[in-house]
Amino acid sequence: MSIADLTSIKATQSAIEAGSVTTVQIVRHYLNRIEEERHLNIYVDVYGEDALREATRQDEARTQGARMGKLAGVVLSIKDVVCYAGHGVSAGSRMLEDFVAPYTATALQRLLDEDAIVIGRTNCDEFAMGSGNENSHYGPTRNAADPARVPGGSSGGAAVSVQAGTCLLAMGSSTGGSVRQPASFCGLYGFKPTYGRISRHGLIAYGSSFDQIGYLSRQPQDIALALEISAGSDAFDATAPNKAVPLYSKSDVVRSPQSIAYFEETLNSDAIDPAIRAATAKAIQDLEAAGHKLVPVSFNYFDYVVPTYYVLTTAEASSNLSRFDGMRYGYRSPEASDLTETYTKSRSEGFGTEVQRRILLGTFVLSSGYYDAYYGKAQKVRRLIRDQLQGILDVHDFILMPVSPSLPWPVGEQVDDPVANYLADIYTVMANLAGLPAVAIPVATDGHLPVGYQLMADQWEEGKLLDFVRGL
Ligand code: GLN
Repeated sequence: MSIADLTSIKATQSAIEAGSVTTVQIVRHYLNRIEEERHLNIYVDVYGEDALREATRQDEARTQGARMGKLAGVVLSIKDVVCYAGHGVSAGSRMLEDFVAPYTATALQRLLDEDAIVIGRTNCDEFAMGSGNENSHYGPTRNAADPARVPGGSSGGAAVSVQAGTCLLAMGSSTGGSVRQPASFCGLYGFKPTYGRISRHGLIAYGSSFDQIGYLSRQPQDIALALEISAGSDAFDATAPNKAVPLYSKSDVVRSPQSIAYFEETLNSDAIDPAIRAATAKAIQDLEAAGHKLVPVSFNYFDYVVPTYYVLTTAEASSNLSRFDGMRYGYRSPEASDLTETYTKSRSEGFGTEVQRRILLGTFVLSSGYYDAYYGKAQKVRRLIRDQLQGILDVHDFILMPVSPSLPWPVGEQVDDPVANYLADIYTVMANLAGLPAVAIPVATDGHLPVGYQLMADQWEEGKLLDFVRGL
């Protein structure tokens, strides 16, 4: 048996329980893989000693017959936006390069309480703003399928950490697609829950009414387990309601015929890469062949999805990021001679170009003369988008869409073209605008690059969505 073949939680835990491998051996294997794949720039920090210490503790506890947690032996990476007490967390930014988290994110704490082993924190776009992992202070992460190409973003490091076999499960975050899009670029499952399903406490904020923690894995079953452990209400997050958390990993898979809506234009639009159109068409055919009903429906607001997302998220980001002022957190410019200069120089030197661009845009759309025209209007359009998706989901079980209109692009190709980057978010931001759960599913490759498609479900129906995907 090779540890590299243990690609699911179940296989890993069975091998440990059968005594064919120890937890220490598993952690050593992953630490070796991290060394071998250093050129991909997956991790900002590797917690080798901590992970080995925890693995040793688990092996000893097991020998003594202790009851093990549901995630015993599971090696996890966390995106560099998730707070883990006593460990650095920088959101891929110079601003927080030396910042150490004073507490642990609720979702992560719940995984740790079930014996998950954190192997390190993964590279990402600065403050989770980007689609190619090229906006990181630590340089780009590279796609293991083709290191000349991006892995997607902003959870690019998270995706490659699983793709390259350096851990079993990755915790990422999604404001507008940062879990599904990199998962699709790297041939994985990537899942974001309903807004509020997982506490955001300890997740560094980008757009608070959009942000959700999500998971990337080779197995939808493993995502279901991580979700059932980490979901649920939290005294530290008023947007995580007190709603029962089903045992997502234990419910029956759904194989009965489902009604799945899709948008015809996604099969013939010139704006979508032909390999992705073909992959979407293949997904539709496969689902039809499996007995499901695939129904073309229309959606009136495609032209408004990206502008609405960028008006609202930049507005929220400009407010969220105002706390980084050189006084309370992180980087302070050594050059400043008075208070105003401390603010301006610290922010100019601490934030990268994309973050500054978004702060400017967000401040503009919130400014008194323009508030109604941009921010207020975008809030109304968000409601229209939500209502129309809701109308479709009142009639159908799921909505099927591509994840991204483009394949992973060459590193460096789009860095000077932010609008091209923004437009490529069209299919992923819809779920975040409407607060809906959605999952990216690997379907094909174009020869050498992976391609996925996504399914979206009604609010709080992540259980049904995962039951369906687990049965595929
Ligand atoms: N690419 C999108 C953006 O740049 C989504 C990012 C995310 O989900 N964090 O805003």
